[in-house]
Amino acid sequence: MIPNAPKGTDDVLPPESERWRRLLRTFDRMAESYGYGLVMTPLFEATELFARGVGEATEVVEKQMYTFEDKGGRSVTLRPEATASVVRAYLQAGRQGVFKGAYSGPMFRYEQPQAGRRRQFFQVGIEYLAEPSPEADVEVIEFGYRLLEQLGIGDVVVLLNSIGDPGDRIAYRDLLVAYLRDREADLSDEARRRIDSNPLRVLDSKADAAIVAEAPVPIEHLGPEAAGHLAGVRQGLERLDIPYEIAPRIVRGLDYYNRTVFEYLSRSYVAAQDALGGGGRYDLLAEMLGGAPMPAVGLAMGVDRIILAMPEEQEPAALDAFVVVADPNRRGAALRLVSDLRRQGLRVDTDLGERSVKAQFRVAGRRRASAVVVVGEEWEDGEVTVRRMAGGEEERIRIEEVPTWLGPR
Ligand code: AMP
Repeated sequence: MIPNAPKGTDDVLPPESERWRRLLRTFDRMAESYGYGLVMTPLFEATELFARGVGEATEVVEKQMYTFEDKGGRSVTLRPEATASVVRAYLQAGRQGVFKGAYSGPMFRYEQPQAGRRRQFFQVGIEYLAEPSPEADVEVIEFGYRLLEQLGIGDVVVLLNSIGDPGDRIAYRDLLVAYLRDREADLSDEARRRIDSNPLRVLDSKADAAIVAEAPVPIEHLGPEAAGHLAGVRQGLERLDIPYEIAPRIVRGLDYYNRTVFEYLSRSYVAAQDALGGGGRYDLLAEMLGGAPMPAVGLAMGVDRIILAMPEEQEPAALDAFVVVADPNRRGAALRLVSDLRRQGLRVDTDLGERSVKAQFRVAGRRRASAVVVVGEEWEDGEVTVRRMAGGEEERIRIEEVPTWLGPR
């Protein structure tokens, strides 16, 4: 018996993986054009990083981490998210001042698997470090919105909220705890447990929606600084025509956020209540990790879910040309031609199996080539026979004209 991939993990294979490539390329190109450098950090970290950074009383740290002892007796954890790692890397490298980083890669959370909720899932994200301006929040929110736009995902709405600064939250927390205590008997077990450890989390509890709907919300208890910051973010989004809705009960699952939090929803995603991505401001994280205070804002987009939301479209051809060997004596010449075309950036393949011409044409179709280039006896005269797969006549052209005939990628 061949062992299966572990529960909650996926293999991604062609042709489906072509969507992944399109998404990752779009992300890379956008990160470059917005000025975010590539950041790579380890897939596992000291467990303490997430306990301190993400927060002991969060769902992620309490229940979802892949934590184990390595052979040296250290407690390590497969990263459930990358923000804590990026900030750690910045602090560890002794960097100072504004830093804009982009990352992509797998994250690990022990969750009950379903579509769009995996144990190994893939995120792309950006972090804008050491910048307190609300314009940084606007840039980050815009980035996620444009990424979805570029991928053809319609009906995207940004849900925006502010959870205030720690000072604002002390008084607010008391109000919320008092409200929840009065209704304790009607709360879910989970919510009841959170009253003391993490009452803010009760606000986005779906099981307690009716009670929560009337609860006091942080956005109504902002201090003047957080309120001014929120006004700046709203103004910036309006300037860029990014549609958003204020969502007073979005708090996000991790402890390090303050002020701005946001999520992206799309009606074109089957589980439309599940976010395609989200993020927020985390001015407290660097200090929580033992560094000097540093304002920052970032986002993470869930690639597995975005793939599910991407429109079904006629996938474009996967190869610009498939080279068919009609004369076995010209095999060497054909392989040389394949190499030359590839070096010009064209997507070109051939069949190495010494099959019949008919069989090679079938392979060309299966591989979704947009044209075939036949290497036969006409090679003698410096020519090949070419044909578009979409239909059209065969014609003979000069070998050196092949790239032009294929056209630009
Ligand atoms: P978070 O910071 O936890 O909200 O994660 C950001 C984004 O990652 C979410 O909006 C989802 O799109 C995605 N995500 C989070 N957890 C999972 C998971 N278990 N499986 C698939 N995608 C996930």
